[in-house]
Amino acid sequence: MTHPVPAFLPFALPEIGEEEIAEVVDALRSGWVTTGPKAKKFEAAFAEFLGEPQIECVAVNSATAGLHLALEAIGIGPGDEVITTTHTFTATAEVVRYLGADVVLVDIDPATLNIDIAAIEAAITPRTKAIIPVHYAGLAVDMLAVLDIARKHGLRVVEDAAHALPTTLEKELIGTLGSDACVFSFYANKTMTTGEGGMLVTRNAELAKRARVMRLHGMNRDAFDRFTAKVPSWYYEIVAPGFKYNMTDIAAALGLQQLKRLPGFLERRQAIAARYNEALADLPLVLPPDAPHGDTHSWHLYVLRLADDAGIERDAFIERMFALGIGCSVHYIPLHLQPYWRDRYGLKPEQFPHSQKAFERMVSIPLYTAMSDADVQRVIAAVRSILGR
Ligand SMILES: *Cc1c(COP(=O)(O)O)cnc(C)c1O
Repeated sequence: MTHPVPAFLPFALPEIGEEEIAEVVDALRSGWVTTGPKAKKFEAAFAEFLGEPQIECVAVNSATAGLHLALEAIGIGPGDEVITTTHTFTATAEVVRYLGADVVLVDIDPATLNIDIAAIEAAITPRTKAIIPVHYAGLAVDMLAVLDIARKHGLRVVEDAAHALPTTLEKELIGTLGSDACVFSFYANKTMTTGEGGMLVTRNAELAKRARVMRLHGMNRDAFDRFTAKVPSWYYEIVAPGFKYNMTDIAAALGLQQLKRLPGFLERRQAIAARYNEALADLPLVLPPDAPHGDTHSWHLYVLRLADDAGIERDAFIERMFALGIGCSVHYIPLHLQPYWRDRYGLKPEQFPHSQKAFERMVSIPLYTAMSDADVQRVIAAVRSILGR
């Protein structure tokens, strides 16, 4: 007799509804498919979401693009050093290299898996120009400490908030904390998606102006401005060799509707995280830290760490989960282990003991809004059975 095998549960899936589809169709029918009215509307809606209608929001085609534009706008260049965490995706660091500057990787706090504040201060040299904190998994970095260090040493701060929508620190949303710029990602597996996309947020009008010019070839007027101006004009000036980083209206259409659903998405993520916290508490695992009381964790990722007495290695655990039809992932293979970063800076695991140990034991289990309660239960049952409970 054969038993029905439940379908494979992927590690992540976006939740796209009829509203998103209708808005995208509207963009397609409108004839305006590149950056236009929907991108403008999405930027305004994003500022509203942050509770600060006047904040500058610059929609781009990825968070990587947004990080690059932010660092370019603050003048990062050859000879400069930028400090960031080794425990991140390579995009956080690669943008520094695009500008010819150098990356200084530091270790994490083993409790939060966020950048170690003391390690930032220890890594500052006369060449240091900026810090890129990453709100890992959706838990806020202690930005008050980071901004304090930056002030003391005259450094700039660009937040990689790819995981942090919405995340709060002392009740303030990430994006409004007063760094030079904060960049969100709308990649397919993030807390909301535009397919590909990102948003650069800043209160610095000059920085925003530079980013707007550089996101479209270094052109001082974008196509939408030119075609909708009172005097339609073919005229523009190129003021710098810019990039092609603008967000299309097709992507922005998705974003407009996803943003409306974000509070509901957050609730669902919080409910799944709470269910995992409860159902996995007695296992030989280090569960992910929640935000301090009153603050919001976006729960972009739910990262388990196998305890010393778990009785199974990380790779074997992931294979067993896969055999049970459940996709898992690892966030991240630290940058100090990646050939490019390792070899360029001669990095050794011993320099990053907390990141290294966390990496060796960590597993991200599925947490996304399209999961049903039965899916969540299935993940719990699988983890429990592998750990022998
Ligand atoms: C997803 C991600 C990025 C890059 O986002 P894109 O929109 O894909 O460019 C950058 N940093 C971190 C930490 C990420 O998780």
